[in-house]
Amino acid sequence: MSQKLYFCDELNKTLTCMHDGIFPCCSGHESPDYYKKYNGQKINKKFLMERKLEIFEKFTEEKIKDSKCFGCYFLRERRPEDVISDKYNMLHISNWTHCNCGCIYCARMKDSTGKIITKKQKSEYYDMLPLLKQLYKEDVFERENLTVCIQGGDISVLKEFEPIMKELSKQGVKTINVLSNNIVYHSIVRKLLEKRKISFMTSLDCASRELYYKLKRVDKFDDCVNNLRKYVKNIEHPPVVVKYIVVEHINDNILEIHKFVDLMKDIGVENIEFMIDNKWALFTNLEETPFPSHYWDLYLFLKKECEKNNINFMIWDKLENDLNKVFNS
Ligand code: SF4
Ligand code: SF4
Repeated sequence: MSQKLYFCDELNKTLTCMHDGIFPCCSGHESPDYYKKYNGQKINKKFLMERKLEIFEKFTEEKIKDSKCFGCYFLRERRPEDVISDKYNMLHISNWTHCNCGCIYCARMKDSTGKIITKKQKSEYYDMLPLLKQLYKEDVFERENLTVCIQGGDISVLKEFEPIMKELSKQGVKTINVLSNNIVYHSIVRKLLEKRKISFMTSLDCASRELYYKLKRVDKFDDCVNNLRKYVKNIEHPPVVVKYIVVEHINDNILEIHKFVDLMKDIGVENIEFMIDNKWALFTNLEETPFPSHYWDLYLFLKKECEKNNINFMIWDKLENDLNKVFNS
């Protein structure tokens, strides 16, 4: 009898350029790596493919326990139609940690200086633009089918942000997901939203200045709301997503969610994503310490509020799966 084989779509088609290294994924599970530490060395297609095959090598029933991927939500049984590809259709750009705010839930605090900075700077780790050009030259992307996701610290303080956007537009992509704290307005973002070349995602997490300050440690609530209004104005079904990240003892209540949905409706935002602080969503062993018991109600409440107001409700499938596992099994 042939043995069971495993597969991961992230490993097969995603390249994740984090500030400290290059990985197949950013799943929250301890990931295998292309480069555990990356600081600008030359990369070629052959190297990426060899490393990918090396990781897939352990995706057998016999060896899977020795793989870092063991236990990951995204690991699944291999199907006959699964083919290991030498190209990527998803690129995460996340090569810096500088930021102009200081969210209390920021997963990067351990790697950044933690300082709130407002001037554009180079990444403290490595430059993305030369790497991006090299990756295109090596022909590692399914160009017309490539989704790029850019987030790090914040785009407002990354010197390379506009050059990266220009390079991507020149080389060709399917779409770009730009994630930002939205404290600073970018005309290039508005232009690309109008052309429907990008989607824009931010997290506001509340509906008041006071709570915003507690969560982000900067007094920029009004700027964020005004910028959102400018991004969605006169765009039909604007591709803008606003997250509500639930943080224990701060915004984990129905009243705030209700006010938040009202605010989104007033601004004209048509997509809301429910999220939970990474402390819970990524870094807690839920079997030992499950989510606080009211989180299920918050999830259901936001979902229903969205339905009632004709707003598209979104959630990361892994988080939805974890919620169901904790509360419905
Ligand atoms: S199985 Fe999980 S940890 Fe491994 S590459 Fe896929 S997403 Fe990443
Ligand atoms: S905006 Fe993002 S990078 Fe900046 S502090 Fe908040 S979570 Fe961290």
